[in-house]
Amino acid sequence: MIVNSLPYCGGPLDRAARHRDDPVWLNHQRESPRTTVIPLWRDRCLLRDDQVVRVPRKELPGADSELVFLGLDATGPVFAVDLSTLTEAEALTAADASATADLRQLVARLPGAEAAVLGYARGLCRWHREQQYCGGCGARTRVGDGGLRRLCTGCDRQHFPRIEPAVITLVEAPGHPARCLLGRHAGGGPDSYSLLAGFVEVGEALEDAVRREVAEEAGVVVDEVTYQASQAWPFPAGLMVGFRARAVSDTTDVDGTELIEARWFTRAELHDRRAARGYLGRLDSIDHVMINSWLDLAA
Ligand SMILES: [Zn+2]
Repeated sequence: MIVNSLPYCGGPLDRAARHRDDPVWLNHQRESPRTTVIPLWRDRCLLRDDQVVRVPRKELPGADSELVFLGLDATGPVFAVDLSTLTEAEALTAADASATADLRQLVARLPGAEAAVLGYARGLCRWHREQQYCGGCGARTRVGDGGLRRLCTGCDRQHFPRIEPAVITLVEAPGHPARCLLGRHAGGGPDSYSLLAGFVEVGEALEDAVRREVAEEAGVVVDEVTYQASQAWPFPAGLMVGFRARAVSDTTDVDGTELIEARWFTRAELHDRRAARGYLGRLDSIDHVMINSWLDLAA
């Protein structure tokens, strides 16, 4: 099992579930002098002096209609606001910022707790932006539960933030020596290998999705499937669920579209690759953690 120290996970906020449906309590949080707001612009963080901006509520005028309550931390209430209807220049001025940047470009130098809160804010703001109208009747929706729901103004339907689960799998070959399967994906670099991954489809359990994805992409049949860990992946609405699986045989047959090559690596080969490149897998992803976990900890 992987220790859950993954990027974008382990957020420190108390989401205040017992209070967030109370408009009086929420308004009190909104007006508190301790309240801070994380502004985002079209999914991007706003920076000042190369630091991610978090603005005191009173310094962000005109943005209270769609403030989203994230939760409480040691400093007080924390909200997010999506400035995407503004131009980039207008958003920078509103937040007294000087640049925008994608969270994935910043994560390596952010404290884990801050990255988790920013990911939460990013995913939630994106969902609000795309859920302005009811999919049932087409009427406008409005924020409910401080931001963890939207309510249709036409048919009263409730809309909840959408999460799109995907499975990511480290497949082990049968027999000895121990080997694991990495794939080279279409569009990736010529020497870029990572674990197999794909979205869960309607009507599937997570384990079903593992078996289907590995078979579809690499032509590998697996039997035993074991949960490892999960990772919040708000780019824009993912949840990565990591598994190990045991292949029935080491025969591969790549689909040629998503996967260009499927290759079994021994631990010695991966040690050499890591020594030569300095890392394995995608650095801010569970992919990186799962490969290294297999390499360093597995028997
Ligand atoms: Zn509706």
